[in-house]
Amino acid sequence: MYKHPLIDRDKMAPSEALKILKEGNHRFINNLRMNNDYPALLENTKNQQHPFASILSCSDSRAPVELIFDQAIGDIFSVRLAGNIASTDAIGSLEFGLKYLKSKLLVVLGHTSCGAVKACCDNFEDASITDVVAKITPCLDLEKTTKDQRSSTNMEFVQKVSDLNVKYQMKEILEKSEIISNLYEKNQISIIGGMYNLESGEVTFFES
Ligand SMILES: [Zn+2]
Repeated sequence: MYKHPLIDRDKMAPSEALKILKEGNHRFINNLRMNNDYPALLENTKNQQHPFASILSCSDSRAPVELIFDQAIGDIFSVRLAGNIASTDAIGSLEFGLKYLKSKLLVVLGHTSCGAVKACCDNFEDASITDVVAKITPCLDLEKTTKDQRSSTNMEFVQKVSDLNVKYQMKEILEKSEIISNLYEKNQISIIGGMYNLESGEVTFFES
């Protein structure tokens, strides 16, 4: 039975945080969403927050993390940027969620058919969108298996770059953030990548 993580969050292991997300995604897929008592949640969280997970995900309107993991107010410290890119501001926000709000789990979540990844595959440039795309561009070189049709018209190529992008952004976070890499090395947090499927509603985690 679901229990609001706020109650025991400080004693929660990172593996439990991941279990809650998996269970929530299962409820979402099966249309078994929780009936949230929002006035009670507002009352519980009005002076404090203890989000059990911090999630870097894409801004895509079809991938709202609270809905796809069936979570409520106070559960997730959410950082959303097109292409789930680990910009300096994104990393700073995650550092706050993990060190000061003490989230137990960091998730970098990509999704299928990501417009930012497609833009990268097509070398798209326009104003500040160029800066977003540039943060994904190193993944094009990492994807060596596709020889022909390396553009957004090749969905298989787009998906391979999307998977690599999640792993690349995770690596960027660990390389650039001493706070987060320290928490990770001390086993105070876990870090995991995932891919949300826009068609099925399912999140697949990159367990390794
Ligand atoms: Zn996207």
